[in-house]
Amino acid sequence: MQAIPFLSLAPQYDRIRGKLMESFKKVIDEGNFILGGEVDAFEKEYAAYTGVKHCVAVANGLDSLYISLKILGVGEGDEVIVPALTCAPTWMAVSRTGATVVPVDADAKTFNIDTHKIEQVVSLKTKVIMPVNLYGRPADLRAILTIANQKKCFVIEDNAQGHGASIHGQKTGSFGLINATSFYPTKNLGATGDGGAITTNDDDLDEKARCFRNYGSSHRFYHDVIGINSRLDELQAAFLRIKLKHLDDWNDERRELAAFYKRNLTGVGDMILPSDAESVYSAYHLFVVCTKRRDPLKKFLTQQGIETDIHYPVPPHLQKAYSQFGFSKGSFPVAEMICETILSLPLWPGMKMEQVDYVSQCVKKFFN
Ligand SMILES: *Cc1c(COP(=O)(O)O)cnc(C)c1O
Repeated sequence: MQAIPFLSLAPQYDRIRGKLMESFKKVIDEGNFILGGEVDAFEKEYAAYTGVKHCVAVANGLDSLYISLKILGVGEGDEVIVPALTCAPTWMAVSRTGATVVPVDADAKTFNIDTHKIEQVVSLKTKVIMPVNLYGRPADLRAILTIANQKKCFVIEDNAQGHGASIHGQKTGSFGLINATSFYPTKNLGATGDGGAITTNDDDLDEKARCFRNYGSSHRFYHDVIGINSRLDELQAAFLRIKLKHLDDWNDERRELAAFYKRNLTGVGDMILPSDAESVYSAYHLFVVCTKRRDPLKKFLTQQGIETDIHYPVPPHLQKAYSQFGFSKGSFPVAEMICETILSLPLWPGMKMEQVDYVSQCVKKFFN
C-alpha cells in the first residue's frame, strides 16, 4: 500500500528553495517590508502575465473581492449575482459590503455558474455578476460579459482558482471590468502565507484600489475615502515573483496528470470525469470526479492510503452563516446534487505518474 496525500507542496518548494532563501535575505537586508520594490515588481509581472494593464496586490482573496465591489460602489440595496456552487468567501465578500447575494445554480456539466439562468434573476438592483472559475475551469465568461453589457451591470471574476487558465488564449482574470484572486498557499499560484490581487485594464479603478487597500490614502497622511489595511507584504511579493516564473510549467504538469487520470478512469463505474471545450485551457486547480457512490468510494480510498477531499460538502446557501436568507434544501438542486456526488482526487505539480496510477487502480478496484 502507498500513502498518497491529497496535496503536497514539497516538490514545488524543493525546486525553488535556494531562490526563495536568497530573496528572503534580500528583503531582510533591505529592511523595507511594506509597499516597496518587490510588490511593485510583482504587480507589473502579474499584470503582464494576466494580460491586463494593472495589478493591485492585496492581503488575501476575500479582500480582493471586497475591494473590487467597494470601488464599484456596491453596497446596501444592491444585488450581486454569485454562483450557488463556490466556497463561502465568494459570498462573504458581497455580504461584507451590505449588498445582497443572488445565487444562480450550477451547470451540471461544467460545475460553473449556469449562464442561461443568470438572465432570469437580473433585476434593476443588479450591480455585478461575479462568476467563479471553479476548480481552475474558466466560467462561460464571454457569454456572461454579453449579458452584463445588455443589462448594464459589471463583471468581477473570482479567479482565485484560475491562475493561468484561459479561453481562446485570453487569460482568466482579464475578462471582467475588475477581477480578483487569492494567493492562498494551496492555490495554483500560492504564497507562503496569505495574499491576493486585483487585475484590471481601467486606470481609474486601479487608482481607487490602490487607495482603498491603504486606508483610502493616495498621498501619505491624506485620506480620500475610508479604506482598509489590505497590503501584500514584500516577502510574499518576492516569493510570488519566483513562483510566477514556474506557474505555466506547473499548470502544464497538472494538466498532464489530469489527462492521465482521464485515460485511466474513462468508463469506470458511473464516474463522470471533467471534460473541457477545446477553446478552454483549464488550470486544473482540482481534479474533481462525480459518482453516486462518493461516500463509499472516499472511504475505500482512505483504507488504501489515499487522501481525498470534497470541494465543497455544503454549498453556501445551506451554511449556518446564511440560514437567515431563506434558502433551503432544493433551492439550488444542481449545486446540491454536485456537492453530494463530487470527490477531489489527489493532484499536485510534482505528483508522480505512478501515484496517479495507484489511485486509478484503487478506484477501479472499488468499482469492480
Ligand atoms: C480561496 C478562495 C477565495 C478566498 O481567498 P482567501 O485568500 O482565502 O481569502 C475566494 N474565492 C475562491 C473561489 C477561492 O477558492
